[in-house]
Amino acid sequence: MPASKSKSEPRSGASTFLKGKKGGRLKLLCRYCHAVYDGKGWIPFKKMDPKMIDQLHASVCPACHETMSHLSDGVLHIQGAGVKAHLTDITNLIKKMGKEAEGRNILDRVERVDQDRNGLMVYTTINQLAVKIGKAVASAYKGGKLEIKWSREDKPVEVYWTYDKVKK
Ligand SMILES: [Zn+2]
Repeated sequence: MPASKSKSEPRSGASTFLKGKKGGRLKLLCRYCHAVYDGKGWIPFKKMDPKMIDQLHASVCPACHETMSHLSDGVLHIQGAGVKAHLTDITNLIKKMGKEAEGRNILDRVERVDQDRNGLMVYTTINQLAVKIGKAVASAYKGGKLEIKWSREDKPVEVYWTYDKVKK
């Protein structure tokens, strides 16, 4: 399967994003999720030193930038006849893991969970998160098939979990 154009381009994540901001101790506030760049890294707004509030410049954090430009680092395909019976539970598990990841690092997120007739598509900002969720789902529901397709040069990873078992 040939890589789509957007995927063959360099990732517009943290490194690219911060390159233009080098030199200054610029404090940034993401206008979408309100994550704060404190000069060293992105942190949740509520963990910010309140003294910084006047120094914040409106910006877009790497995670929101990635989400908006559809450059997800991780894509997890959850598909198969058995998925439908557990759709709610699986979706909840994905969301829970996304929240936990974001709690550890504000830029590690589940960007989106799309549902289509084949099952679910999960987009994550870091590739390890797609792998981790894939493994968690696979171990929660035995009998499925987990496939991890790493691409070259630290580019997006595609994870497939196929679950064809149909039983309650
Ligand atoms: Zn953001």
